[in-house]
Amino acid sequence: MHLPDLRADFPLLTRTVRNGKDLVYLDSGATSQRPTAVLDAVRDFEERHNGAVARGAHLLAEEATGLFESARASVATLVGASHDEIVWTENATAAINLVASGIGNATSGIGGDEAARFRIGPGDEICVTETEHHANLVPWQQLAIRTGATLRWIPLDDLGRLVLDDLDALVNERTKVLAFTHVSNVTGVISPVATLVARAKAVGALTVLDACQSVPHLPVDVKDLDVDFAAFSGHKMLGPTGIGALYGRKELLDVLPPSVFGGGAVTIVSMESTAWHPAPTRFEAGTQPVAQAVGMGAAANYLMELGMERVEAHEREIGHLLREGVSEIPGVRLLGPVGSTEDRDVIGLAAVVVDGVHPHDVGQAPGRPRHCGAGGTPLCPAPASAPGRDRLHSSQRPRLHHHRRRARLSRGPRGRPCLLR
Ligand code: PLP
Repeated sequence: MHLPDLRADFPLLTRTVRNGKDLVYLDSGATSQRPTAVLDAVRDFEERHNGAVARGAHLLAEEATGLFESARASVATLVGASHDEIVWTENATAAINLVASGIGNATSGIGGDEAARFRIGPGDEICVTETEHHANLVPWQQLAIRTGATLRWIPLDDLGRLVLDDLDALVNERTKVLAFTHVSNVTGVISPVATLVARAKAVGALTVLDACQSVPHLPVDVKDLDVDFAAFSGHKMLGPTGIGALYGRKELLDVLPPSVFGGGAVTIVSMESTAWHPAPTRFEAGTQPVAQAVGMGAAANYLMELGMERVEAHEREIGHLLREGVSEIPGVRLLGPVGSTEDRDVIGLAAVVVDGVHPHDVGQAPGRPRHCGAGGTPLCPAPASAPGRDRLHSSQRPRLHHHRRRARLSRGPRGRPCLLR
């Protein structure tokens, strides 16, 4: 079940940082590094096949269109969808906004009578959870504000797990949308998807899954999960930035009103009116991010070659080691449900706080890996005068090094980049 040593697949991991030390990258939850297979696919596209997708009859336009669509097919296969159920977007945020804005546009007449099923207004409800990334909260807040609907949310317990005691009241006959994350980007907690989807179905609500932190780490099959929509980002699953995907059930995608308008998405346009392509094209107005899509397709192929079951098993093993190691460090507290039995409910991550030290300062403290705290910390060494450099208690530094050796993280023989946010 073990993965082979993959470190050599990631050119960026060959660079060294402060004092010639090997780079240890533990911020994949914020953005992952790209393997050579992805970098090569993007470069090959740019060097040999670049052309306008679906807009030309010449050789390069045909090749570019073929690569763009076969990348879509790879991403679809990775998540168990069919080719025409995957819409290219800029990232997961754009994918979620596409659904929320489409629902908001359902009164505009676009999409015809079929779009009526998306209509939402005063008296209707949208339900999210308290654990959502802003990408899966703010679009729903805005939709509620625009339409007069009410936003409700499922609360969390102290360990970051959803409290489902009042699920039937929170997701009720008035609920039009239930939007929730598959895996929390803060604690790594895996949501009880089956329970949530069953409740949404019982009341006829649409389900929108934020799959940003699950697609790179778990086998995800959108048909098995039975969700209506799912959103994920290329850059969190070893692909490039600037590309993401929305899965939508075909029958829903074909009637969801688009909210970005322009060329490529339309069939017949007169000065008075426009007819739209079926999905996914109706949502892809304008010139597409083709090289990025090719890169995301290559990332999907890379993950499928590894085998998502093996990726999950490996991450569970190193995640457990990581949490065990971190829990031994005095003054460092793990967030989330951690412990041998709860481990099955989390994937990939260890969220920590260092008591009395602001996460920003933890991230910038020198003399140890710069990976604790919020995602997105830069890789460059902190300037000598960085605020907070002396705020980490000196007794903690050797322990952190000790922990890193003990848990064999990223430097280990199977040193796949791992997650600590
Ligand atoms: N959802 C989750 C759970 C995330 O972790 C993130 C990014 O951290 C997002 C959504 C937003 O992803 P993006 O910024 O690529 O749109």
